[in-house]
Amino acid sequence: MGALILDGFCDGIFLFNQGSLSHATVDATAFGILQAGRIRTSKTEYISCPGCGRTLYDLEKTIARVKAATSHLTGLKIGIMGCIVNGPGEMADADYGYVGAGRGKISLYKGKVCIDKNIPEEEAVERLLEFIRNDLKKKSDIG
Ligand code: SF4
Repeated sequence: MGALILDGFCDGIFLFNQGSLSHATVDATAFGILQAGRIRTSKTEYISCPGCGRTLYDLEKTIARVKAATSHLTGLKIGIMGCIVNGPGEMADADYGYVGAGRGKISLYKGKVCIDKNIPEEEAVERLLEFIRNDLKKKSDIG
């Protein structure tokens, strides 16, 4: 299925449910597959590294915190990367990025451009959200 989607041979999917899953679960799965294949965007997208010895914070907890703060921003791509060595390069085409810069320090990115460096980890999620809010407001003022 993934190969068909990526090669452009698929516009939609039909999932057959034998009644053991809720409709909400089936819908979430279907929309998740469509978004992963870039066919239809219905939620915020997160791109995160798997973590390694270089990861500078608790990746799992941080992903959960960033998701809780930004899950209403449908269509945005947010990168959450463990370190500054490879993180910015691996964020692919994320709109905004949250990257470990040192122990307890985070740098924020807009695309590939660093917009705020070495923020204390405790403040970083709120600062990211504030930056995105202001940035989107600027865009809507221009548009
Ligand atoms: S971005 Fe950094 S922390 Fe994450 S997997 Fe790559 S090297 Fe490791």
